[in-house]
Amino acid sequence: MMERSALNQLTIPSALIKIIHEERCGARYGNAKVKRGFSDCDICPRCKCNCESSLHALRDYRMVRCLWSRLVDRKHWSSFFNLNLSEWIELNLSKSLGSENEHNWSDTFAISCWLLWKQRNNIEFNNSMEKPIALVTRIYS
Ligand SMILES: [Zn+2]
Repeated sequence: MMERSALNQLTIPSALIKIIHEERCGARYGNAKVKRGFSDCDICPRCKCNCESSLHALRDYRMVRCLWSRLVDRKHWSSFFNLNLSEWIELNLSKSLGSENEHNWSDTFAISCWLLWKQRNNIEFNNSMEKPIALVTRIYS
């Protein structure tokens, strides 16, 4: 795992750094939300059927998987969809996994996570109906 000082030098959104930090401290998003009293459960606001871990919100929710399947080269799907959160972030910040000819996959990955997080919050707090796959054009713009 990267040291915190190395993380600060990357041009990744602060929300992603916060997720990495919370994971390293063992405080996953869902549990933190319950502890702060915002909710009495940590059920996913989108599919309503899973505990909403950081990985569920950013990778494993089925409609988010559709988005990543579009962005990530098929030959990397096995590792991309099967690592734990720390390994997953480290992989995406160190290897080029994109299906397009990208010169900076880590930026694409960070922007995707950031937009997915914002979209997820819009669904929970503003009743947005936008689907993750709709983010493709913003990710590549
Ligand atoms: Zn869900």
